[in-house]
Amino acid sequence: MNPFIELGIRHDIVNAISELGFENPTPIQEQSIPVLLTGSNDFVGLAQTGTGKTAAFGLPLLELLNFEENYPQALILCPTRELCLQITNDIKNYSKKMDNVHVVAVYGGASISDQLRQIKRGVQIVVATPGRMLDIINRKAIDFTKVKFVVLDEADEMLNMGFQEDIDSILSTTPDEKKTWLFSATMPTEVRRIAKKYMNEPFELTMGAKNTGNVNIEHEYYIVRARDKYAAFKRIVDFNPDIFGIVFCRTKIETQEIAESLIKDGYNADSLHGDLSQQQRDKVMKRYRDRSLQLLIATDVAARGIDVNDVTHVINYSLPDEVENYTHRSGRTARAGKTGVSIAIVNAKELGKIRQIERVIGKKFVKAEIPTGFDVCEKQLFSIVHKVHNVVVNDEQIEQYLPRILEEFKDMSKEEFIKRFASIEFNIFLDYYKNAPDLNAPQEEGRRFERSDERGGDRRDGGGKSEYTRLFINLGSVDEFNRGDLLGYICNQSKISGRVVGKIDVKGVYSFFEVPNADVEKVMTGFTAAEFKGRPVRIEVSGEGSSERREGGGGGYQRREGGGGYNRERSGSGERRSGGERREGGGGYPRREGGGGGGFRDFSGKSREDRGERKRRF
Ligand code: AMP
Repeated sequence: MNPFIELGIRHDIVNAISELGFENPTPIQEQSIPVLLTGSNDFVGLAQTGTGKTAAFGLPLLELLNFEENYPQALILCPTRELCLQITNDIKNYSKKMDNVHVVAVYGGASISDQLRQIKRGVQIVVATPGRMLDIINRKAIDFTKVKFVVLDEADEMLNMGFQEDIDSILSTTPDEKKTWLFSATMPTEVRRIAKKYMNEPFELTMGAKNTGNVNIEHEYYIVRARDKYAAFKRIVDFNPDIFGIVFCRTKIETQEIAESLIKDGYNADSLHGDLSQQQRDKVMKRYRDRSLQLLIATDVAARGIDVNDVTHVINYSLPDEVENYTHRSGRTARAGKTGVSIAIVNAKELGKIRQIERVIGKKFVKAEIPTGFDVCEKQLFSIVHKVHNVVVNDEQIEQYLPRILEEFKDMSKEEFIKRFASIEFNIFLDYYKNAPDLNAPQEEGRRFERSDERGGDRRDGGGKSEYTRLFINLGSVDEFNRGDLLGYICNQSKISGRVVGKIDVKGVYSFFEVPNADVEKVMTGFTAAEFKGRPVRIEVSGEGSSERREGGGGGYQRREGGGGYNRERSGSGERRSGGERREGGGGYPRREGGGGGGFRDFSGKSREDRGERKRRF
């Protein structure tokens, strides 16, 4: 038997939710539906967003109300317009095989006359944000005297947003004998207080430990210097080519600035904050929901009620002022049983705040290291490789060109061809990142990096790092070098003593090593015209100071790259993709909009053709 039938839900509702893909109840549905179906309890459910709580209260309401009558019997209050529309839509979907179910969404920022008209026609379920609801009550346009159930959804959010008085006024128009069902992600004392005030011995249900965040969310923090924050953030994004994320800032201005910088740097980002008109906000949200936007930069208030599934990362570009808000932010990922990562980019002084959040969410953060430029390059390279491997070939279209293509490559070996193909995008990232500095800031005064490879670290700390120069070499583990091999090779080639070589960092296709400033010339000379297995060996200085300037804040880099060949190429392809849309692909950063390497194309699981972009591209 269908498990929802076993819980007591009737067939026509079960058929409708089966079409939505609900096969088994979520834990909160399993536990709350039988209780709520009795219709005789007040109820408090402590549950995160994304756990399926809309159906947890929505399905019982559909069972309990009398749809032969056309007067308000249930009132659902929620904090935001987005959530209000979502709940309304969900309930309409659950009831689409039932007759005469009328649900109205009542929220600010939209025509009140439409809402009044719908109410007048007769509704049984009203889903509302408190401000507009009160407005309609004050106009005496609705009668709540026969309301049987009131649902307070995301009660903590409503209180955070200062709706306490409005809720009091609204509830005073409902009968005393109604039942109240309250859902909240967190249970601060204020919520406890309203639970006490409005309810009579409520049935309490806690999903997981109290105030514990969603177990599917991993929490990570990165420590960076304030001036490196933006560069570090970009690096994290680059290290996750398939990211579909929400980035939280503290203020509207910061939100706008970060979004603008990202757009300038060629990322597929846009902002969501209170200074935008409702129409602008709807447009941004639509793009994000449709996955044609990869990064949504938002303030806490604007992002309330965002219920997009499959968000892979929540990034706290700035930590929230209120610790409780962290739970709301991170709850935007790992919805509906998926996993997700919530990242905080902090400076060393903010560690106390991380510990405070850990206490509230009942979970530890993992300290993560900002990936090096080379980690990013490697990740991007393999992302390209996977894309090439998985690309869906349009045989019919490409066939006519095949003879010419094959002719062009007829003298090239498979290995050579693959290498060149992968290099098209890879070189771009390589160029951008070749001098990229370490962006991890020390956690405590006097302690530098927490690295497994401490070779040379003491010397740097003790003697001052300026005495050493970090060099790049285009050989790495793929050439079967480990640190020892590389040390031997360097010494042999440049005739310097192994004892003076500092930290060696072997990467996949490249490595770094440090030598005293006085020996740099000797190393360079030693490697002049050097070859390894028939390939020229390249040594370059990887200067921290200069590269920090290049990456930081986007500005310096932007100017440097501005007129470059690459830039022109990217802008061109960006325009092709977006049909000349202003914001796409104009920037200096070698990224995902055009050309096919950036990762955006694949993460939606859709091809460009699916998104109707083919016409514009050809
Ligand atoms: P909610 O917490 O109500 O916002 O639900 C989060 C997401 O989970 C929504 O996209 C729902 O459509 C989905 N969902 C809710 N209940 C189920 C279920 N029993 N099976 C599968 N998906 C569900």
